Amino acid sequence: MLLARSFVKKTPLVPLNRPFSSSISHKMQIHPLLARSDNWMYLVVDEASNEAAVVDPYDWKKMLGLVKEKGVNVTTLITTHHHDDHSGGNIQFLSNHPQGSSIKAYAGSRSPGTNTVVKDKDEFTFGKNIKVKALHTPCHTQDSICFYLQDEQGKKGVFTGDTLFQGGCGRFFEGTPEEMHKALTYLGTLPEDTIVYNGHEYTPGNAKFALKIEPDNADVKRLAKLAEDNDCTAGLSTIADEKKWNVFMRLDQPAVQKATGATDAVSVMGALRELKNKA
Ligand SMILES: [Zn+2]
Ligand SMILES: [Zn+2]
Repeated sequence: MLLARSFVKKTPLVPLNRPFSSSISHKMQIHPLLARSDNWMYLVVDEASNEAAVVDPYDWKKMLGLVKEKGVNVTTLITTHHHDDHSGGNIQFLSNHPQGSSIKAYAGSRSPGTNTVVKDKDEFTFGKNIKVKALHTPCHTQDSICFYLQDEQGKKGVFTGDTLFQGGCGRFFEGTPEEMHKALTYLGTLPEDTIVYNGHEYTPGNAKFALKIEPDNADVKRLAKLAEDNDCTAGLSTIADEKKWNVFMRLDQPAVQKATGATDAVSVMGALRELKNKA
């Protein structure tokens, strides 16, 4: 894996105190936390109430450690999809958290530990300030849900699990090219300044692939630089950036169509995914 490069070469990989962690606003703080070799879990803190949400706490011990360190009160657990590397820590997290039984655990229909099943466009809040909206984006899995968060000041973030990555998208394990096209188009309707928090650090490989497809795209070069300069790119792009450098969101571009030998969006998406799978 290309990823091994950055994780071996650059240490420490502890992005907790990076400036951007708190830059989303002084009311909503989002802390990425590494699980396994390249999974991103998140702790979302509403400063006004000291309430927090955890996202995909696979490494539940590590997440409980961060919760303790920050001294926050977890009221909400969010799971992006049922794959074990995202949902596999839910039950342990809830049973080892002092108030675990009172935590609202939101997910699609197939994740363990879930007590509140969400469907497309469902909304809920946590803390004093944070509004959450579910976006059903089936393809990587049929239960894939992206969670869009907005705080009182209008700062925005989206947890995209394995649907949208910085510069890429997830494999179509349970879906079709048409579904991924629909899912990414749906995410593309979010406000341009929405910050993207994804499920894996796949950015180096995605940038390398994008450079092959669109070698003359200056934004793709910017993506490659981002991957080179940062061990953790989670939270370092917006929906606007993704539209400029993510080839899976650029199916109408001549260079992308030329590389895939197709012109209609669904065929381009299918061919792109095939090329990426072989890359
Ligand atoms: Zn997955
Ligand atoms: Zn995953």
